[in-house]
Amino acid sequence: MLWRRIALGMVLTVLAASDLAAQTILERQEAMFRRNVGTREQQRAQFPPHRIAGNLYYVGSQSLSSFLVATPEGHILINTNWEDAVPNLRKSVEDLGFDFEDIEIILGSHAHGDHMQGDALVKDLTGGQVMAMAQDVPLLERMTPGDKPHPIDRVLQDGDEVTLGGTTLVARLTPGHTPGCTTWTMTVEEGGESYEVVIIGSMGSNPGFQFVNNPTNPTIADQYKQGFAVLRSLSPDIPLASHPAMYNMYEKYERLGETPNPFIDPVGYWAEIDPVEELFLAVLAEQEREAAAAGR
Ligand SMILES: [Zn+2]
Repeated sequence: MLWRRIALGMVLTVLAASDLAAQTILERQEAMFRRNVGTREQQRAQFPPHRIAGNLYYVGSQSLSSFLVATPEGHILINTNWEDAVPNLRKSVEDLGFDFEDIEIILGSHAHGDHMQGDALVKDLTGGQVMAMAQDVPLLERMTPGDKPHPIDRVLQDGDEVTLGGTTLVARLTPGHTPGCTTWTMTVEEGGESYEVVIIGSMGSNPGFQFVNNPTNPTIADQYKQGFAVLRSLSPDIPLASHPAMYNMYEKYERLGETPNPFIDPVGYWAEIDPVEELFLAVLAEQEREAAAAGR
């Protein structure tokens, strides 16, 4: 019964098309969130550690990024992630041939547990100095796994530099996702060339985020706009981010060792920023419409 198969095919095609059109903003938020955070297992499972470019290495899990900046005077770690995954973080650093104890400075993307819960434990294990953006300090002070107080050795302001062993990172405040969400920039040298690196803190509009009439964070929507403006002022050669999915790490890792270095991807930066900003603006517009309809 060919006509039946054709008719069924047409019905399914129409259904699929209307499905896509009918995907609610909340569904898009959920899809983006799941893309970034992965499963509970992926957040903790080791991903093969690798050199990205110059003295910059990936030591994170399958869905949570950690970066190691290796210098002759010790190392800088960006993101300790969940405390119970610190053994895998340590293994990744050691698999690359570095000593975990040589970590001198501990930085973070933003004050959520999946990125910074391990700070106290990593400080215990390494003696490293924990540095955090001022606007994230109140959230970090509430992050106390096993009742350990969150260590903070240096409070950073927008534009502050963190230097060790000849490498300098710049802390750029890209607020919104958290009030002190931090995007790190640095320059790496490879093959006689310099490359600008940007490690996006996060601009994700998680399901449940309230951008309008938010009593605990009344300026959150303006913070997001400020964060996007800062990110739009940057133009990295090598875009990286707090989650591997935000910079297509899996696909680039497959091409590791190729020339040119697959992590050099200036276009990929905008391929991430544009839809994430578009989603934020859609969520904001929807919440503004709902607030207006409710007369608030
Ligand atoms: Zn987060």
